[in-house]
Amino acid sequence: MIVVTAFGAFFGIFLFSKSRTTQMFGDIFARVETERPVIALTFDDGPSVRFTPDVLALLKERDVTATFFLIGREIEENPAGIRAIIEAGHEVGNHTYSHPDMTLAGPQTVASEIERTDAAIRAVGYQGEIYFRPPYGKKLVTLPWYLSRNDRKTIMWDVEPESFPETAASADFIAEHVIENARNGSIVLLHVMYGSRSLSREALPKIIDGLRARGFEFVTVSQLIDGQ
Ligand SMILES: [Zn+2]
Repeated sequence: MIVVTAFGAFFGIFLFSKSRTTQMFGDIFARVETERPVIALTFDDGPSVRFTPDVLALLKERDVTATFFLIGREIEENPAGIRAIIEAGHEVGNHTYSHPDMTLAGPQTVASEIERTDAAIRAVGYQGEIYFRPPYGKKLVTLPWYLSRNDRKTIMWDVEPESFPETAASADFIAEHVIENARNGSIVLLHVMYGSRSLSREALPKIIDGLRARGFEFVTVSQLIDGQ
Protein backbone atom coordinates (compact mmCIF):
# COMPACT_ATOMS: atom_id res chain seq x y z
CA MET A 1 0.00 0.00 0.00
CA ILE A 2 2.81 2.34 0.87
CA VAL A 3 4.41 1.52 -2.46
CA VAL A 4 1.20 2.30 -4.33
CA THR A 5 0.77 5.60 -2.50
CA ALA A 6 4.38 6.62 -3.08
CA PHE A 7 4.03 5.73 -6.72
CA GLY A 8 0.83 7.75 -6.97
CA ALA A 9 2.50 10.77 -5.45
CA PHE A 10 5.49 10.40 -7.70
CA PHE A 11 3.30 10.00 -10.77
CA GLY A 12 1.33 13.08 -9.77
CA ILE A 13 4.51 15.09 -9.52
CA PHE A 14 5.64 13.74 -12.87
CA LEU A 15 2.41 14.81 -14.55
CA PHE A 16 2.53 18.23 -12.92
CA SER A 17 6.15 18.72 -13.96
CA LYS A 18 5.09 18.17 -17.60
CA SER A 19 2.02 20.41 -17.42
CA ARG A 20 1.91 22.91 -20.24
CA THR A 21 -0.37 25.42 -18.56
CA THR A 22 0.28 25.17 -14.84
CA GLN A 23 3.37 26.27 -13.03
CA MET A 24 3.82 26.97 -9.37
CA PHE A 25 5.24 30.45 -9.96
CA GLY A 26 5.57 32.85 -12.87
CA ASP A 27 4.05 33.50 -16.29
CA ILE A 28 3.71 30.54 -18.58
CA PHE A 29 2.29 30.54 -22.10
CA ALA A 30 1.16 27.47 -24.04
CA ARG A 31 -1.05 29.58 -26.31
CA VAL A 32 -2.25 33.18 -26.34
CA GLU A 33 -5.95 34.02 -26.23
CA THR A 34 -6.59 36.21 -29.28
CA GLU A 35 -9.16 36.88 -31.98
CA ARG A 36 -6.41 37.41 -34.52
CA PRO A 37 -5.48 34.55 -36.86
CA VAL A 38 -1.83 34.49 -35.77
CA ILE A 39 0.45 31.57 -34.99
CA ALA A 40 3.99 31.37 -33.60
CA LEU A 41 6.21 28.68 -35.08
CA THR A 42 8.91 27.71 -32.57
CA PHE A 43 11.97 25.54 -33.15
CA ASP A 44 13.87 23.90 -30.30
CA ASP A 45 17.57 23.02 -30.02
CA GLY A 46 20.65 23.98 -32.03
CA PRO A 47 21.80 26.10 -33.76
CA SER A 48 23.36 23.34 -35.84
CA VAL A 49 26.05 24.05 -38.41
CA ARG A 50 24.56 21.64 -40.91
CA PHE A 51 20.85 22.48 -40.85
CA THR A 52 20.38 26.06 -39.61
CA PRO A 53 21.07 27.47 -43.12
CA ASP A 54 18.49 25.12 -44.68
CA VAL A 55 15.82 26.09 -42.18
CA LEU A 56 16.56 29.80 -42.60
CA ALA A 57 16.44 29.51 -46.40
CA LEU A 58 13.08 27.80 -46.18
CA LEU A 59 11.63 30.46 -43.90
CA LYS A 60 13.02 33.26 -46.08
CA GLU A 61 11.59 31.72 -49.22
CA ARG A 62 8.14 31.83 -47.63
CA ASP A 63 8.65 35.12 -45.78
CA VAL A 64 7.98 33.64 -42.33
CA THR A 65 9.35 34.95 -39.03
CA ALA A 66 9.76 32.38 -36.26
CA THR A 67 11.22 31.86 -32.78
CA PHE A 68 14.23 29.63 -32.05
CA PHE A 69 14.87 28.24 -28.54
CA LEU A 70 18.60 27.62 -28.63
CA ILE A 71 21.03 25.66 -26.45
CA GLY A 72 23.82 27.77 -24.89
CA ARG A 73 26.60 25.29 -25.55
CA GLU A 74 25.61 24.99 -29.20
CA ILE A 75 25.45 28.78 -29.54
CA GLU A 76 29.04 29.00 -28.29
CA GLU A 77 30.09 26.27 -30.71
CA ASN A 78 28.29 27.91 -33.62
CA PRO A 79 28.02 31.68 -33.16
CA ALA A 80 27.58 32.12 -36.91
CA GLY A 81 24.41 30.06 -36.63
CA ILE A 82 22.73 32.31 -34.07
CA ARG A 83 23.93 35.43 -35.90
CA ALA A 84 22.31 34.21 -39.10
CA ILE A 85 19.05 33.54 -37.23
CA ILE A 86 19.03 37.02 -35.70
CA GLU A 87 20.07 38.79 -38.92
CA ALA A 88 17.16 37.11 -40.70
CA GLY A 89 14.82 38.83 -38.22
CA HIS A 90 13.85 35.83 -36.11
CA GLU A 91 13.49 35.78 -32.35
CA VAL A 92 15.77 33.68 -30.14
CA GLY A 93 15.04 32.22 -26.72
CA ASN A 94 16.88 30.36 -23.96
CA HIS A 95 16.65 26.53 -23.93
CA THR A 96 19.35 26.05 -21.21
CA TYR A 97 23.09 25.62 -21.63
CA SER A 98 23.38 21.81 -21.79
CA HIS A 99 19.76 20.64 -22.21
CA PRO A 100 19.36 18.73 -18.91
CA ASP A 101 16.11 17.52 -17.41
CA MET A 102 15.54 20.39 -14.95
CA THR A 103 12.80 18.70 -12.89
CA LEU A 104 14.95 18.09 -9.83
CA ALA A 105 17.75 20.58 -10.58
CA GLY A 106 19.05 22.62 -7.65
CA PRO A 107 19.17 26.43 -7.58
CA GLN A 108 22.80 26.69 -8.68
CA THR A 109 22.29 24.41 -11.67
CA VAL A 110 19.17 26.28 -12.70
CA ALA A 111 20.87 29.68 -12.45
CA SER A 112 23.97 28.49 -14.28
CA GLU A 113 22.05 26.76 -17.10
CA ILE A 114 19.97 29.86 -17.75
CA GLU A 115 22.53 32.61 -17.18
CA ARG A 116 25.30 31.05 -19.28
CA THR A 117 22.83 30.76 -22.13
CA ASP A 118 21.66 34.37 -21.72
CA ALA A 119 25.32 35.42 -21.83
CA ALA A 120 25.88 33.46 -25.05
CA ILE A 121 22.81 35.08 -26.63
CA ARG A 122 23.85 38.59 -25.53
CA ALA A 123 27.45 37.97 -26.68
CA VAL A 124 26.31 38.08 -30.29
CA GLY A 125 24.49 41.38 -29.69
CA TYR A 126 20.89 40.19 -29.28
CA GLN A 127 18.78 42.97 -27.75
CA GLY A 128 15.25 41.60 -27.27
CA GLU A 129 13.64 40.06 -24.22
CA ILE A 130 14.85 36.46 -23.83
CA TYR A 131 12.06 33.99 -23.15
CA PHE A 132 12.74 30.58 -21.66
CA ARG A 133 11.67 27.09 -22.69
CA PRO A 134 12.61 24.15 -20.43
CA PRO A 135 14.15 21.03 -22.02
CA TYR A 136 11.55 18.27 -22.45
CA GLY A 137 8.96 20.80 -21.24
CA LYS A 138 9.87 19.86 -17.65
CA LYS A 139 9.93 22.19 -14.68
CA LEU A 140 8.70 21.61 -11.08
CA VAL A 141 9.77 23.88 -8.24
CA THR A 142 13.25 25.39 -8.35
CA LEU A 143 13.11 26.28 -12.03
CA PRO A 144 9.73 28.13 -11.92
CA TRP A 145 10.84 29.84 -8.72
CA TYR A 146 13.97 31.12 -10.46
CA LEU A 147 12.00 32.21 -13.55
CA SER A 148 9.46 34.03 -11.41
CA ARG A 149 12.07 35.76 -9.25
CA ASN A 150 13.85 36.91 -12.37
CA ASP A 151 10.63 37.96 -14.12
CA ARG A 152 11.15 35.52 -16.98
CA LYS A 153 8.38 34.21 -19.17
CA THR A 154 8.16 30.46 -19.83
CA ILE A 155 7.02 29.52 -23.29
CA MET A 156 5.46 26.09 -23.80
CA TRP A 157 3.25 25.08 -26.78
CA ASP A 158 -0.20 23.79 -27.62
CA VAL A 159 0.61 22.00 -30.91
CA GLU A 160 3.29 19.33 -30.85
CA PRO A 161 3.02 16.88 -33.79
CA GLU A 162 6.27 15.01 -33.12
CA SER A 163 5.11 13.66 -29.76
CA PHE A 164 2.70 11.22 -31.45
CA PRO A 165 4.76 8.34 -32.93
CA GLU A 166 2.30 7.62 -35.75
CA THR A 167 2.16 11.29 -36.70
CA ALA A 168 5.93 11.69 -36.46
CA ALA A 169 6.41 8.84 -38.95
CA SER A 170 5.55 10.95 -42.00
CA ALA A 171 6.09 14.55 -43.11
CA ASP A 172 2.54 14.66 -44.45
CA PHE A 173 1.10 13.47 -41.11
CA ILE A 174 3.17 16.03 -39.21
CA ALA A 175 1.91 18.79 -41.48
CA GLU A 176 -1.71 17.60 -41.32
CA HIS A 177 -1.59 17.46 -37.52
CA VAL A 178 -0.40 21.06 -37.26
CA ILE A 179 -2.76 22.38 -39.92
CA GLU A 180 -5.77 20.69 -38.28
CA ASN A 181 -4.94 21.50 -34.65
CA ALA A 182 -3.59 25.05 -34.80
CA ARG A 183 -5.95 27.85 -33.85
CA ASN A 184 -5.73 31.58 -33.18
CA GLY A 185 -2.79 32.23 -30.87
CA SER A 186 -1.28 28.75 -31.11
CA ILE A 187 2.37 28.07 -30.35
CA VAL A 188 3.67 25.23 -32.52
CA LEU A 189 6.69 23.21 -31.42
CA LEU A 190 8.95 21.56 -34.01
CA HIS A 191 12.49 20.20 -33.95
CA VAL A 192 14.29 20.93 -37.21
CA MET A 193 17.97 21.32 -36.30
CA TYR A 194 19.43 17.83 -36.43
CA GLY A 195 19.95 15.12 -39.05
CA SER A 196 17.36 12.88 -37.38
CA ARG A 197 14.66 15.53 -37.95
CA SER A 198 14.44 15.38 -41.73
CA LEU A 199 10.69 14.62 -41.67
CA SER A 200 9.98 17.74 -39.62
CA ARG A 201 12.05 19.86 -42.02
CA GLU A 202 10.18 18.30 -44.91
CA ALA A 203 6.88 19.07 -43.18
CA LEU A 204 7.73 22.73 -42.56
CA PRO A 205 6.84 24.17 -46.01
CA LYS A 206 3.64 22.10 -46.05
CA ILE A 207 2.75 23.45 -42.59
CA ILE A 208 3.36 27.04 -43.66
CA ASP A 209 1.37 26.71 -46.88
CA GLY A 210 -1.45 24.81 -45.16
CA LEU A 211 -1.84 27.30 -42.33
CA ARG A 212 -1.73 30.23 -44.77
CA ALA A 213 -4.48 28.55 -46.77
CA ARG A 214 -6.53 28.55 -43.53
CA GLY A 215 -5.91 32.32 -43.24
CA PHE A 216 -3.23 32.32 -40.54
CA GLU A 217 -0.26 34.68 -40.35
CA PHE A 218 3.04 33.94 -38.63
CA VAL A 219 4.45 36.01 -35.78
CA THR A 220 7.23 35.68 -33.22
CA VAL A 221 6.38 34.69 -29.65
CA SER A 222 6.89 38.25 -28.43
CA GLN A 223 4.57 39.61 -31.14
CA LEU A 224 2.02 37.00 -30.08
CA ILE A 225 2.28 37.91 -26.40
CA ASP A 226 2.50 41.69 -26.88
CA GLY A 227 -0.45 41.76 -29.25
CA GLN A 228 -2.81 39.78 -27.04
ZN1 LIG B 1 15.07 20.63 -26.54
